[in-house]
Amino acid sequence: MIDFRSDTVTRPSEKMRTVMAQAEVGDDVYGDDPTVNDLETWAAERHGFASALFTSSGTQANLLGILSHCGRGDEYLCGQDAHNYKYEAGGAAVLGSVQPQPIENSADGSLDLAKLAKAVKPDDNHFAKTRLLSLENTMGGKVLPMAYLAQARGFAERQGLAMHLDGARVYNAAVALDVDVTQIAQHFDSMTVCLSKGLGAPVGSLLFGSQEFIARARRLRKMVGGGMRQAGILAAAGKLALAENVSRLVEDHANARYLAAQLNTLPGVSCDEASVQTNIVFLNVDQTVAIQALASTLKAQGILISPGYQGMRLVTHLDVSRSSIDRLISAWRACL
Ligand SMILES: *Cc1c(COP(=O)(O)O)cnc(C)c1O
Repeated sequence: MIDFRSDTVTRPSEKMRTVMAQAEVGDDVYGDDPTVNDLETWAAERHGFASALFTSSGTQANLLGILSHCGRGDEYLCGQDAHNYKYEAGGAAVLGSVQPQPIENSADGSLDLAKLAKAVKPDDNHFAKTRLLSLENTMGGKVLPMAYLAQARGFAERQGLAMHLDGARVYNAAVALDVDVTQIAQHFDSMTVCLSKGLGAPVGSLLFGSQEFIARARRLRKMVGGGMRQAGILAAAGKLALAENVSRLVEDHANARYLAAQLNTLPGVSCDEASVQTNIVFLNVDQTVAIQALASTLKAQGILISPGYQGMRLVTHLDVSRSSIDRLISAWRACL
């Protein structure tokens, strides 16, 4: 199967499976798993933070992050399209009684600072207490400009807000900008990274922050059932993913641009090639194309896409090559 639905579908390589099989393990709830401890210590330093926590998912890492910054009755500012607002089952509100204050995302994925300023609540007992600004990078495959990050940091400092980065795909941003990930991370008090997307690990994310912040997050992780035992098997895959699969993200980005150009050769399909900055390609399909039927025909030929309503998102990753893209395009053309 060639799977364009997401970069979460990547399978662990033979080498990764070997590293997992050979990982030294212990009970991580007792702090005894040497492979988890090694990943957390190494990754904290690598990303420029004092401490790190290995979590079961990016959703859990965001939840623990928001709940470690904010208490009951506090508020976080985020994008209307933010993953930690829209796609995480309202976890911060449901489990933490933390109110989200979403702001419409600008076309480049950023949040307008003037709009954010209006949303920060005065200290008045009518209002929730605004505590945190949460950004996402990449946001819908778009890279937040470095200059914007510095401006947002200045804004947060003036307003007395902490800053969190949902960095599920922050390595796609770093690679696209050709900067070290710490140059992005330096602007934030906390950050998450998904190991299980384009980096190719089967499970897991990291949450970064100060010692005290991660100590709070560790307690909350236990509370939500995220204390894992011989988790070194997973942490070993995560460390290999960070060590080996970052530099190859440039290939995914080049493949995404190639995919966008090829899609534009298909009748009834349009794709804004200039908007493809990383590994995610958005396209529009006109009314003459029956997307559901197209998806089932492609599936019968071993190609998976997730059809939307006359629109779609295709994602490149380490299990998608140039020839996979050529196969998709010729199968699609044949359907038409
Ligand atoms: C995928 C994703 C998450 C959540 O990660 P899971 O591991 O799927 O829970 C969070 N934020 C962003 C931006 C994501 O793309």
